[in-house]
Amino acid sequence: MDILQLSHYLDNLLGIKEVKDSPNAMNGLQVQNTGDIKKVGLAVDLCMATIEKAIAVDCNMMFVHHGMLWGGVKPIRGNFYDKVSTMMRENLGLYSAHLPLDMHPVLGNNKALADQLELYELEPFGEYGGQKIGIKGRLDRISAEGLRVKLEDKLGSPIKVIGSGEVQTIGIVSGGAADILTQAAEAGLNAYLTGEGSNHHYHEAIESQCMLILAGHYATETGGVKSVGKHLEEQFGIKAEFLDYPTGI
Ligand SMILES: [Zn+2]
Repeated sequence: MDILQLSHYLDNLLGIKEVKDSPNAMNGLQVQNTGDIKKVGLAVDLCMATIEKAIAVDCNMMFVHHGMLWGGVKPIRGNFYDKVSTMMRENLGLYSAHLPLDMHPVLGNNKALADQLELYELEPFGEYGGQKIGIKGRLDRISAEGLRVKLEDKLGSPIKVIGSGEVQTIGIVSGGAADILTQAAEAGLNAYLTGEGSNHHYHEAIESQCMLILAGHYATETGGVKSVGKHLEEQFGIKAEFLDYPTGI
């Protein structure tokens, strides 16, 4: 299976054409290559470090959450040139899925987080661009500290909890989606989990009595790419390797 065939499959699987993403995001095939896809490298971010990791472990395609092409047309020079030329020279293809990967009901980042927290009664949550991009659900009653420890254990990264009390209902939107805290508070949820936030979100969490859990932008977006890799292994026997390059943010 070559990269065009695999991209076509992924476009359908992830609903690439149906999902409304930020105007800057380009979902789907970003760099074509030649030959059969034998090994896919999975990464949260496309950057020089993950490209080098992919080459070192003999991947001929990368599947990433944050791709190489953001912000429209730009000259191929500097760091951008380094990445493009390396990928071309090494015959390394690239496929990127941003919001379609966050929100996918089976393989998505938010579903992976919901599974790690053992949530039940799952429902779509968190509106962006007229669609629900996150998940909400219930969990067995747990203290703020208990939830922090559990998440830290599952994600392997430091977790910041703003607010206190017990949690039974929670909304989740991976990445940099702290603005959706308002929707969690309006829905009467006990807590809202996302990757990163700004200073003003602290006051919003305290005043709206909706606990804000910041689990890291990178850490909350590792689940989706891993799920896609597992899916490609099961479906097509393509080897998959997670290329971990945590930013700590
Ligand atoms: Zn993100």
